[in-house]
Amino acid sequence: MLSNVQMQRSGILFVVSGPSGSGKSTVCANLKQTPDFRYSVSCTTRAPRPGEVDGVDYHFLTEEQFDSHIAAGDFLEWAQVHSHRYGTLKSVTRSAVTSGTDLLLDIDVNGAQQIRQSKEHWLCGALVDIFIMPPTFEELERRLRKRGTETEEQIQIRLKTAQNELPHWKEYTYVILSETMEEDLQKVRAIIRAERYRTIRLRLDLPLPVSRPEA
Ligand code: 5GP
Repeated sequence: MLSNVQMQRSGILFVVSGPSGSGKSTVCANLKQTPDFRYSVSCTTRAPRPGEVDGVDYHFLTEEQFDSHIAAGDFLEWAQVHSHRYGTLKSVTRSAVTSGTDLLLDIDVNGAQQIRQSKEHWLCGALVDIFIMPPTFEELERRLRKRGTETEEQIQIRLKTAQNELPHWKEYTYVILSETMEEDLQKVRAIIRAERYRTIRLRLDLPLPVSRPEA
């Protein structure tokens, strides 16, 4: 059936957090493949891993470049995670939200806190925050080791960070207990789907009868 109802909405910032090894990166990597999102490319001072592309996975910056962005107030949020700094550019998030584009942010609990507390008027109602919880700490460690991308020292730092991050799950609107990759993705997709129908972000031209001149 053809509808003459015009529906428009502002963009959503889908913030996904969870410790390294929680399954968060796999969920985000899958969502990145879908055309209904833009992925927020963060700035970082860490070095690229093999295969990572500047401007696609991260904007890889020097410490000085990162400092200048802080000084210019360019970041919506930034945080020290593990032993490097990471930040989200305000300009990119603002233009996505105001133009009705949904943005996916893979950021840590500290960054999510800063966005929740932000007073930026364009952010009002835009944030949807999701925490991915690993099933057990042992499973988290197993997943981290299986990746084989970190040294033993880096694994220990990530496990320590995880211990600090886990208690923050209650600050999030949604929490997902990680199971298989497919199940995690299905749950996140269900949240995304429902959030896209929230009236708070919609503008609707009602299908009212066309007024006729009085006889
Ligand atoms: P990785 O170095 O493994 O790519 O990311 C390490 C951590 O940094 C992840 O937990 C990721 O969520 C977080 N992260 C990535 N980008 C940002 C960002 O822009 N801001 C904040 N606060 N955290 C980020």
